[in-house]
Amino acid sequence: MKELDSMKKYLAYEGKVSITVIESTNLVEEARKIHDLTPTTTAALGRLMTATALLGVDLKSMDDSITVQIKSDGPIGSMIAVADKFPRVRAYVQNPHIELPLNEKGKIDVGGAVGKNGFLNIIKDIGLKEPYIGIVPLVSGEIAEDFAKYFAESEQKPSAIALGVLVDKDGVKKAGGYLLSLMPDATDEIVTKIEKNIEKTPQISKILSENKKLDEIASLITGDHNIKIIEENITPIYECNCSYERFEKGLISLGREELEEMIKTGENIETVCHFCNKKYLFDKEKIKGILKKI
Ligand SMILES: [Zn+2]
Repeated sequence: MKELDSMKKYLAYEGKVSITVIESTNLVEEARKIHDLTPTTTAALGRLMTATALLGVDLKSMDDSITVQIKSDGPIGSMIAVADKFPRVRAYVQNPHIELPLNEKGKIDVGGAVGKNGFLNIIKDIGLKEPYIGIVPLVSGEIAEDFAKYFAESEQKPSAIALGVLVDKDGVKKAGGYLLSLMPDATDEIVTKIEKNIEKTPQISKILSENKKLDEIASLITGDHNIKIIEENITPIYECNCSYERFEKGLISLGREELEEMIKTGENIETVCHFCNKKYLFDKEKIKGILKKI
């Protein structure tokens, strides 16, 4: 059996720095299979899902959720990922089958696929009347840079984020990332040390491909060898929350007239969940049943 994905939260420098490290290989592979993704779209959606998982795990309650959407002018179209605290993650991409040549650095051209004339939208539903919404224009469409801008501008939290997906035509080899945040009492000395570490550390997908453990990665990035684990045994998974009832609600919202028309024409309605491709069939009898509920 393949090893499960995992995620761990740490504090470094006596609580002045927090870092969460994730391995999301299976999560991204699951998305690749569900949506029949190409290497380019696997890398793009995989980075988005990994970032969304990193944000989701910091939610306060299991009922909360975070939705991250990227809408831009690249050939991939729009992408969306949703996570809860667990984190259970689900994702969707508009054009899953596009494939681009490698960029001038010999890397998968995520920025080219996403495009940079667009926005990153983050919607946090934390049980309040109105959800929290943060929007930033994209920097490069490479996703990690775009999230970094979001943290700087919308959350005013000095952060560093790295996201990596190693994939070829046979599937995802490794995926993961980290999110590091500085607490207000982090000293300039600590900041300089971390900046230097990040500069000299290879890309996260390279580190993961060397099979480094999450603890090692956290120490490597922060430069603190007495790093403290504050949460472990976190297993991100791909899971959709769609149900027959949810789609039924959608049909109810069409209104009585439209549903009566469907019965008249004898149309069966097949609805498909965008996140997991599960199909829900509503035949004449079922639609009649729904009408009784209106
Ligand atoms: Zn679903």
